[in-house]
Amino acid sequence: MKNNINWNFDNTYFKLPESFREIIKPVKVKNPSLILLNKSLAKYLDLDFSNLNQSELSAVFTGNKLPKDCNSIAQAYAGHQFGHFTMLGDGRAVLIGEHTTKSNKKYDIQFKGSGKTAFSRNGDGRAALGPMLREYIISEAMNGLKIPTTRSLAVVKTGEEVIRETSLPGAILTRVASSHIRVGTFQYIAARKKKDELKVLLDYVINRHYPNLKNSQNKAIELLNIVLEKQIDLVVDWMRVGFIHGVMNTDNMSISGETIDYGPCAFMDIYDPKTVFSSIDQTGRYAYCNQPVITKWNLARFAECLVPLINKDQDKAVQFATEIINSFEKKYEKKWLNMMRNKLGLFGTEEKDKFLILDLLTWMHHKKVDYTNTFCHLMNEKIKEDKNYEDKDFINWKKRWEDRSSKNNSTLKKSTELMRNNNPLFIPRNHKVEEALEAAEQNDLKPFNKILEILEKPYNEQEVNGDYQSPSMSDKEYKTFCGT
Ligand code: AMP
Ligand code: MG
Repeated sequence: MKNNINWNFDNTYFKLPESFREIIKPVKVKNPSLILLNKSLAKYLDLDFSNLNQSELSAVFTGNKLPKDCNSIAQAYAGHQFGHFTMLGDGRAVLIGEHTTKSNKKYDIQFKGSGKTAFSRNGDGRAALGPMLREYIISEAMNGLKIPTTRSLAVVKTGEEVIRETSLPGAILTRVASSHIRVGTFQYIAARKKKDELKVLLDYVINRHYPNLKNSQNKAIELLNIVLEKQIDLVVDWMRVGFIHGVMNTDNMSISGETIDYGPCAFMDIYDPKTVFSSIDQTGRYAYCNQPVITKWNLARFAECLVPLINKDQDKAVQFATEIINSFEKKYEKKWLNMMRNKLGLFGTEEKDKFLILDLLTWMHHKKVDYTNTFCHLMNEKIKEDKNYEDKDFINWKKRWEDRSSKNNSTLKKSTELMRNNNPLFIPRNHKVEEALEAAEQNDLKPFNKILEILEKPYNEQEVNGDYQSPSMSDKEYKTFCGT
């Protein structure tokens, strides 16, 4: 094989102490066939696959043919899953390397679904095609929405069956991430009660993600602060577009602030703060409105891990950490209010803004209207007719909004621009995602590529045929399943 892909691997995580990872190769698969290759992402990464034929590409993206100098590993981590602490780790993923681009950005290249590891517990280490394609669509959609996320570089069918409730085609997703270090990674190391290892992880993370903290007086406190800010920004972005992650366990919260681990996630259509899609989330722990609450809860678990590094005096360390965690609500509210102001094209701050925003949300909830399309309506976008927008209460609310807009101290053009940059016209509508997945599973990739193309530019007007802008079935009926 002509090896001019331009992989530029540096395996810094591999060099960490043994306890951090298992050295392992992806388990070879029988009959791989490439289904998707993300050419624009490849280009962004300065990778060149143009000289490889289908069969070579299939071998590359399963690990059947590994690059030379590849020190692949499975990472160890733990996590609170639905509130319960468990030792986990990459049970079906292998990190083949950290690729550095020409502009010196480092990305983990990981195969998800690549076979058993020391962390597989009772799992088979494999992934089914449907969930891997789903992760591909939603993660690329998040990128289009300009929300920090892991990316998807390729999907290959393994030619093997995986047994779930039925027998399904197996697949491997190539995932690209700033890193795969999670809150759960800190939990794993902290649980081992070796302070020197914890210090290694702290320094590693600062070096890799937050190098300007290198000379901080108290690195652990500063890291907690910055991760808190990043996670608030992330969850505010999710709330902005109606994204529901579905399984916000601490092992699914990335230290880099990217959205990670797309399992039973989906976008809310009809506005209802209690919306839950995941079939396993019986109590609504990860419902839309609970996402900020859970973000804080997860950050508190992160803070607990850092305590030994914050101060020698444990009481003091706990006190410092608690102060930061308790700053969450105020910071969140401020950022959330600003985000909602942006959605409404409002500049400056007025005391009554919060009521204006909450009244709109209450009205949307009461009338069961579509979240995304309500903002489209406010931007005078052509969307499917909805008589609700002729409702007296809504018209009255719009008058209040217009009054408030007149205090913008800016131009209508700028306000419209602000709205356009914050309100997507297109989100991955559940019925469209399902349609694309069903077709792809039958080897028809047309609907899949169509939805990907639309979601690449979700803030742009696009002439499209088909129901890409309306909620279809009732959200109550739509159920998602964990991506295993
Ligand atoms: P997830 O739900 O994908 O976030 O995974 C939670 C944990 O279960 C992680 O440690 C995964 O590596 C592990 N896991 C999920 N599916 C499998 C599988 N099919 N085989 C082995 N481990 C798995
Ligand atoms: Mg996970």
